[in-house]
Amino acid sequence: MDIQENILLSEHTTFHIGGLAKYFCEAKTTDELNEALKFAEQKSAQVLIMGGGSNVLVSDKGFDGLVIKLVNEGIEQEDISDSQVRLTIGSGQNWDSVVAFAVEHGLWGIENLSHIPGNTGALTVQNVGAYGQEASQVVESVLVFDRQTHDTKIISRDECEFGYRKSIFNTSEKNRYVILHTNLVLSKVPNPNLSYGDLKIKFADRDPQTITLAEIRSAIIEIRNTKFPFPDAPERGNAGSFFRGPILSDSEFADMQKKVLDLFGTEQAQRLEAMADRLKVPQGYKTPTAFLLDVCGFKGLEVGGAQINPAQPAIILNKTGKASAEDVITLYNQVKAGVLAKTGVELEHEPEFVGFEGRLNVV
Ligand SMILES: Cc1cc2nc3c(=O)[nH]c(=O)nc-3n(C[C@H](O)[C@H](O)[C@H](O)COP(=O)(O)OP(=O)(O)OC[C@H]3O[C@@H](n4cnc5c(N)ncnc54)[C@H](O)[C@@H]3O)c2cc1C
Repeated sequence: MDIQENILLSEHTTFHIGGLAKYFCEAKTTDELNEALKFAEQKSAQVLIMGGGSNVLVSDKGFDGLVIKLVNEGIEQEDISDSQVRLTIGSGQNWDSVVAFAVEHGLWGIENLSHIPGNTGALTVQNVGAYGQEASQVVESVLVFDRQTHDTKIISRDECEFGYRKSIFNTSEKNRYVILHTNLVLSKVPNPNLSYGDLKIKFADRDPQTITLAEIRSAIIEIRNTKFPFPDAPERGNAGSFFRGPILSDSEFADMQKKVLDLFGTEQAQRLEAMADRLKVPQGYKTPTAFLLDVCGFKGLEVGGAQINPAQPAIILNKTGKASAEDVITLYNQVKAGVLAKTGVELEHEPEFVGFEGRLNVV
């Protein structure tokens, strides 16, 4: 197999940022993956598994190890019952092409996850979610390669231990498993999920039973295009939502509401109050990340070539197409510190930071 040296990672990430990978290869089969992992072992090199590079920020110094990009594609369809279908999808398959496939074949459950960059292997890793749907609702299991036992095995939905943008693959078992295939169970029975505000408004005058999959997909694409610049060129580079907040307990949410009222006045406090129902989850409240960045005055803030997206401030943009990872980290640290000081809420970063060890002061 072809293991290349000194490959520029900015060409493999949607941020269009990142220095050189010492080694880089593509793996299409389990044998190729095994071979690549053995190579890394021989060289005592660390390994980064990569899909579409849409949820990573790679340092300007790059990655001093082997990047393995999974490129196994394919979608297989199997009827489970009159109402359910299983799709088995290779990790290298572009995620949005899977959504397009499901929509074309009348399969419900992932249409609201339209137009999210990246490949299917990463879907389970951070329990991808948007507009009221998330991976955990449709992932039946994943086939993985276990780097400890050097064998493959099936991991069920329950074993994935899904949480908000979390699973075992980015927490307790991080770096242990390489996901090879993902099994989704989708429904043949129409079931539009219009719980999200923008969608509700879009279809306000329609009987939900008459709304088609194709209509929902195109509505989602239209809504997303106004908020998430599609990162198909360096000057539209981004990694989706950069900031992620914790789930706030009822009392933490009340504290934040009080701080918003004291610092920013009644109008902003009412804006927050109007969002409360949508933020409610069984354990408390999701952090209204974009609202906090907005109210704290960070919309449009720039550091070097990086900018807080004025249209959706949870996103950091590579505004000039030439932003460095250091610009992004400096902006992130500044915003994180400001939001904490003003509202008491501690934001984290959603994309994975790659190649920063000991090089930058990442909070
Ligand atoms: C414009 C834009 C909009 C976005 N919108 C959303 C959104 O609405 N909701 C959402 O949840 N996310 C969103 N994202 C984030 C991102 O698209 C998703 O997280 C996506 O699933 C990442 O896929 P990827 O193939 O690019 O993963 P990568 O960035 O390549 O990898 C992400 C992580 O997963 C690991 N990984 C990748 N493949 C495998 C594998 N086969 N086995 C094991 N580990 C693996 C990597 O090591 C890394 O830790 C958005 C990103 C962008 C740029």
